[in-house]
Amino acid sequence: MKCEFCRKRDASIKFPFNPVHFCDQCFQTFLEKKVLKNIRKNKLLKQSHIKISEEDKVEKKVLIHILLKYFSKSNKIELVPKEKENVNAKSVEECATEFLESFLKGSETVSPPENNLLDGVSIYELIKYAELEKITFNKPNFGKIYTMLKKISLNNPSIFFSIFQSGKKIKEKLEKEANNR
Ligand SMILES: [Zn+2]
Repeated sequence: MKCEFCRKRDASIKFPFNPVHFCDQCFQTFLEKKVLKNIRKNKLLKQSHIKISEEDKVEKKVLIHILLKYFSKSNKIELVPKEKENVNAKSVEECATEFLESFLKGSETVSPPENNLLDGVSIYELIKYAELEKITFNKPNFGKIYTMLKKISLNNPSIFFSIFQSGKKIKEKLEKEANNR
């Protein structure tokens, strides 16, 4: 089967939650474009530098790799301690898990966070990208609820995306109501 993007190279990548077949190169471009789109959407480059902390998590490792690939010459990327960051790096899976956790506890919804440069990006995409670029990272662990959802995702691959989207809608609605008050 050929890659559905370039239609030239053989497809080598297919995620259970996405019907598209990619070749390695087109997948990498696809993921990089998602991150660049999130930067534009959050208007981050117009006002300020992107301040981000280095960690051994796959989210941070891949994100910083992509940022440096595109912005290294423009001095727009600043590596800072964690408390000085002005962006977030949370995958769909982490946002979905956080949302469900806070929802079950009855507390206010916290996810998805502001200025999330990995908005709509799956942890599986990040892991694949890291493998292709030979980036080393620590295995992600988001706790019990994540493990439970991961089991469900074997039969229902889009479960994380569904919860993520619900969390987003609820957050938007709550913010709208707060603004109308
Ligand atoms: Zn391709």
